[in-house]
Amino acid sequence: MDQLVSMKRGLLAIVSHPDDETFGCGGTLAAHTDNAPVDVLCLTCNPPERREELFSAAQALGLGEPTVFDDLHVGDSPSLIRLVSDVIVEKNPSVVITHLPFDYHREHRAAYEVVKEAVEWAAHTTTYDEPCLVERLLLMEVNTLIPQPHVLVDVTGVMDRKMEAVDSYTSQLAKFPWGYYQKYNMKKAELRGVQAGCVYAEAFLEEPMPSNGPFYEAKATRSLL
Ligand SMILES: [Zn+2]
Repeated sequence: MDQLVSMKRGLLAIVSHPDDETFGCGGTLAAHTDNAPVDVLCLTCNPPERREELFSAAQALGLGEPTVFDDLHVGDSPSLIRLVSDVIVEKNPSVVITHLPFDYHREHRAAYEVVKEAVEWAAHTTTYDEPCLVERLLLMEVNTLIPQPHVLVDVTGVMDRKMEAVDSYTSQLAKFPWGYYQKYNMKKAELRGVQAGCVYAEAFLEEPMPSNGPFYEAKATRSLL
């Protein structure tokens, strides 16, 4: 089972909306708070009241105050990419988590594009005096499931904290009075737990790191064997 052992500096989740961080990777975030800095950047806050729900969820997960952009939608403008890469450099994570490129939600797909580019630019000495070379980029499942996950993180010990965070999103839960979000997140964690050989787990795809531009030395090797 993957333990995210390469994590040395910390973990940063970059998400489109308040609740994505909890539904997609809340257990993984909570599971790492004891031994690493864990941060959340939320790219939108619409309506503004969702900020309170996000802060309450972050508290339930044992996180500090998330960074929130007040945009209404996720665009792919160069200015947004730069703002995101600025946060990556400031937080200096070794692991970044964001959305899937095949997510059903257009703004989740847009976030993937923004984050992938921002991770690249955060590593450039041409952009920053002290760049951040992210080591792993993981893609989470919110409502779109991953057919074949690369990484499964055991969240059994923190599942109660994840479900407490889910309950923070009263405005979203109210859209489905039959308990869709609570049941979906529990069943998803059970399914991934079966696959991972534990009780509850969260699943991710691992995105190959581009590390192009002037950073080919990071890819250099003396031997392929
Ligand atoms: Zn979302």
